[in-house]
Amino acid sequence: ATPTAVMVGTGVGASQGVLIKGGQALESAHKVNCIIFDKTGTLTIGKPVVVKTTLLKSMVLQDFYELIAATEMNSEHPLAKAIVEYAKKIREDEEDPVWPEARAFESITGYGVKATIKNREIIIGNKSLILDQNIAIPVDGELMLAETEAMAQTGILVSIDREVTGILAISDPLKPNAREVISILKSMKVRNIMVTGDNWGTANSIAKEVGIETVIAEAKPEEKAEKVKELQATGFTVAMVGTDIAIEAADIVLMRSSLEDVITAIDLSRKTFSRIR
Ligand code: ADP
Ligand code: MG
Repeated sequence: ATPTAVMVGTGVGASQGVLIKGGQALESAHKVNCIIFDKTGTLTIGKPVVVKTTLLKSMVLQDFYELIAATEMNSEHPLAKAIVEYAKKIREDEEDPVWPEARAFESITGYGVKATIKNREIIIGNKSLILDQNIAIPVDGELMLAETEAMAQTGILVSIDREVTGILAISDPLKPNAREVISILKSMKVRNIMVTGDNWGTANSIAKEVGIETVIAEAKPEEKAEKVKELQATGFTVAMVGTDIAIEAADIVLMRSSLEDVITAIDLSRKTFSRIR
């Protein structure tokens, strides 16, 4: 490859939001045959909303949401924001409610949150978190979770004083063009993989909707980078879309969130490379 051609290729790439890293990067770029997509915010819109609440104990909905909003307002997670947003919406009395004070707030990355609100122990998160705390999940709760996951929504469990009191269904729909982008990539002979910290049931439902066959779910942040290295070791040239944690490991990283950039990036590098040769 001549230096000029390489510069042209990477320059155009950068102006289109495509970051091509490293000395061998352009050569790697045209060889990309595997792409790992983050689920949240990359394949999905990334603005989750609460779409259903199932109470398993008798409780006033506003009181239930007051306890969980008071907990989740201490978390930066997109799911937390969705929950607080919904709690505000169902309180018609005030514009900006003041939530009760949270004591002993704790965020358990990849699982959920805990706090004490009005002397009640609140635990909010996925099934693993609840089971890790030795709290039993009742059968009607299990059924609701399965139904939620089958609908490609994330089910969040709420435990109050060690009893599963409610289940929230949270939806984060696919980007309108996600299915088409994946379909075009398949025609370009690229292997597509979806990675997420979300549970297997929801992840598989989303993957099916978008047309991706390979899923890595319940992945902790460091596992995302490990997966990239594993694929590279088996001979794949791997591009990452949307996972900041795995940027170091990947051959190519896309900076902008627009999904069709992925096609541009591969197209660009394939064209640039054939021009050089
Ligand atoms: P991702 O970034 O792929 O969505 P995360 O590792 O951030 O995955 O989260 C994994 C799972 O942990 C979420 O799907 C959710 O079930 C649970 N979780 C994480 N943070 C929270 C929170 N603040 N409230 C409730 N559940 C949470
Ligand atoms: Mg996350």
